[in-house]
Amino acid sequence: MAYMELNIPKRTIMTPGPVEVDPRVLRAMSYPVLGQFDPAFTKLMNEVMEMQRAVFQTNNRWTFPIDGTSRAGNEALLASIIEPGDLVFIPIYGRFGHLLAEICERYGANVHSIQCPWGEVFDPQVVIKEMKKISPKIVAIVHGETSTGRMQPLAEIGKACREQNILLVVDAVASIGGVDVKTDEWHIDGIIGGTQKCLSVPSGMAPISFNDRIEKIILERKKVEAGIATEEDRLYNRTCLAITSNYFDLGMLMDYWSPRRLNHHTEATSMIYALHEGLRLVLEEGLENRFFRHMFHEKALTAGVEAMGLKLFGDAHHKLPCVTCIDIPSGVDGESVRNMLLEEFSIEMASSFGPLHGKIWRIGTMGYSCRKENVLAVLGGLEAVLIRHKVRVNRGEALQAALDVYAAEAKKTIAY
Ligand SMILES: *Cc1c(COP(=O)(O)O)cnc(C)c1O
Repeated sequence: MAYMELNIPKRTIMTPGPVEVDPRVLRAMSYPVLGQFDPAFTKLMNEVMEMQRAVFQTNNRWTFPIDGTSRAGNEALLASIIEPGDLVFIPIYGRFGHLLAEICERYGANVHSIQCPWGEVFDPQVVIKEMKKISPKIVAIVHGETSTGRMQPLAEIGKACREQNILLVVDAVASIGGVDVKTDEWHIDGIIGGTQKCLSVPSGMAPISFNDRIEKIILERKKVEAGIATEEDRLYNRTCLAITSNYFDLGMLMDYWSPRRLNHHTEATSMIYALHEGLRLVLEEGLENRFFRHMFHEKALTAGVEAMGLKLFGDAHHKLPCVTCIDIPSGVDGESVRNMLLEEFSIEMASSFGPLHGKIWRIGTMGYSCRKENVLAVLGGLEAVLIRHKVRVNRGEALQAALDVYAAEAKKTIAY
């Protein structure tokens, strides 16, 4: 057998994940493996927790990554707080809302959902009204919905949840590190971020954070696990059940991420190096600068797309800055355009799911992929490919419009 040494093509990745990884992160992953209880390594774990708190804008003690992709973070939080029969309210406005519902159902929740058309978000008052009507234990919602490129305002919903003693769990996988996410200020109880999106770290970890309200539930369930339900528990007939997942048992993971360092899984030490470097780069750039950079390149990209004569998809007021959705012109084979862009220009953009499949393209401008050279490359490549597909575009306009944006605002402090 003659397998060749890996020869990975160089791509410009303009999808909503996975995205290009900063060379400094890739370098960090190549350092020697450390034992998971080596003090040199546990020091890194503590630093990851600290940096994660800053990126999540929270003072939560429990702020650490779950090993597994982003949905592992969703599952760990939900599995650890849902007990069979719990009412969970999920406002769904795209694919990842359905994922939350699916996970909750698997852990025995009674899921109540409302939906709005893909491309829109909910008026917070609609969510709050429904919430008051049904009094769920948990509200689970997506912050940045990558499938539709929309962003749901959360501040009012968070405040209402807290007032009614409802737990708010937020999937901020696509927004963390690229868009302002105020965990504490918005009264979010449990939150999940993603690595392969705006943090620009490879897929394989899910940074999460949760507060003492969630910790309390987990510790209660731990007592049950240990067979030490108190008399009070029995008195109030609390049907508190042990967490049914081992891998996603946050109680056990808390023991591992605390000074007790109780063994659970074998930590993915090389991924911790990557996350450490990824978080460090976010903080080195500065959150405000980073959010500005994502909006800045979004402005250049959307100016170019519109100048080309293409239409942006979705409610413009609630656009997620790091994902730009474009209507596929009628009569055009969207997949053929994507394939040609990859083959001829080595540029990858995304299609979408469900009702939007074949209807829109999605261009991600996330983390390290969110750079001027990438935005210009995708605009130039897309225009050329569309012309090859006999689409009537305004030739030569897209790059000029983007360059105009860059010329007008270039003085700002942009890291990439
Ligand atoms: C990408 C994404 C996920 C799932 O992430 P995986 O890493 O594929 O598990 C979940 N939610 C949102 C909003 C996402 O964008």
